[in-house]
Amino acid sequence: MDFALSPALLQARDRARAAAEELLAPAARTADAEARFDRGLVQELGRRGLLDERDPALARCLIAEELGRVDSSVRGLATVQVALVAGCLAEWGSPAQRARWLPWLRSGEAIGCYALTEPEAGSDVRSLQTRAMRVPGGWRLEGEKHWITNGGVAEVALVFASAEEGVTAFVVPTDAPGLERRPMPGEPLGHRAADHAVLTLRGLELGEDAVLGRPGGGLQVAMSALRRGRLEVAAGAVGVLQACLDASVDFARRRRQFGRRIGDFQMVQAALADMAADLAAARLLVREAAWLEDAGRGSLDRVAVAKLFCTEAALRAADQAILIHGGRGYSNLYPVERYWRDAKGMQIYEGTAHVQRLIIARALLGRDEGASAAVRPPGPG
Ligand SMILES: Cc1cc2nc3c(=O)[nH]c(=O)nc-3n(C[C@H](O)[C@H](O)[C@H](O)COP(=O)(O)OP(=O)(O)OC[C@H]3O[C@@H](n4cnc5c(N)ncnc54)[C@H](O)[C@@H]3O)c2cc1C
Repeated sequence: MDFALSPALLQARDRARAAAEELLAPAARTADAEARFDRGLVQELGRRGLLDERDPALARCLIAEELGRVDSSVRGLATVQVALVAGCLAEWGSPAQRARWLPWLRSGEAIGCYALTEPEAGSDVRSLQTRAMRVPGGWRLEGEKHWITNGGVAEVALVFASAEEGVTAFVVPTDAPGLERRPMPGEPLGHRAADHAVLTLRGLELGEDAVLGRPGGGLQVAMSALRRGRLEVAAGAVGVLQACLDASVDFARRRRQFGRRIGDFQMVQAALADMAADLAAARLLVREAAWLEDAGRGSLDRVAVAKLFCTEAALRAADQAILIHGGRGYSNLYPVERYWRDAKGMQIYEGTAHVQRLIIARALLGRDEGASAAVRPPGPG
């Protein structure tokens, strides 16, 4: 077994690390405090080749870890842009759809968003209330999406709607008449430098060529995206874990109480050791799941194991990091409270921790063939 990263993978990691240090680190705290989305940053990530859906899964995970170590808002926007939007266009798009959008998304000149969640359809993605109705020459969409990352700033949206054939995915330019967007109401707990929006579709008319994949094939499109996306979220959580450990070790070396470094107290040492053990396990889970994806042997439940473990380990680490920092950890002058707020979101989006557990349990137990459709567990959202 060879755990070494190839020169190409190391290069991808180093490019992401340099971008994280040079572009993200100086701005992360104020961008969070001022809830500021920076479009120029997206273009710079594109110029540095960090938004390319053609990269193997392992490279995307290394990039997500490096960005996530410094700023989960930026890692999140890149995951939506690359894993969810560009990845779906590359996998399911017609030649015309790919030619129109992919070069712009890779360069960061265009931003993409992925509009699945609705006020009444979150984990239960099969119950979408957004309707796609056939009209002469194409389709008309009616409905509302919420919590859409990049929704207010994107040029292109992948919109999922219920049609007669079943859930169908559409590629929608966001300047299309009938599509309105507004900021998500309320202040988010974390990911504050990301853009989250409500999209309202009222009489949104689209041509036949707007369908992504085939009519009725939308759940397959959605799940292919989430499989890539969840792996990147898990990798981003590894970055958060690393950041928590680095900040805590540094603080435990410098802070003195009772005439000693707090790192000399065994309870602090135990917390650091647990964090380091979680970090090592989380990183291996992500790399193995990504390696399986690249070898064509990946599965939804392997990705679910990685997402579940990594996001919850990041939360545990952030919780301990705040405690180790004492009162300072409770202030945004130190980054650890932001790590906790961001990690909480990662436990929820792209399928909550409950949903990941359902997927894992279903892979262990199989479906109950005797159960009626009414009591079957819902699809993973
Ligand atoms: C920061 C952020 C960014 C997001 N970005 C996007 C985006 O870009 N695009 C997009 O489409 N969506 C996005 N979302 C939405 C996100 O994917 C949903 O919030 C998430 O899937 C959960 O759906 P819900 O909020 O409707 O919760 P619900 O599905 O209503 O769940 C409520 C609770 O019930 C639990 N639950 C539900 N069903 C079951 C079950 N069968 N078994 C056990 N427990 C269950 C859930 O785990 C949760 O604890 C984002 C959310 C956040 C917070």
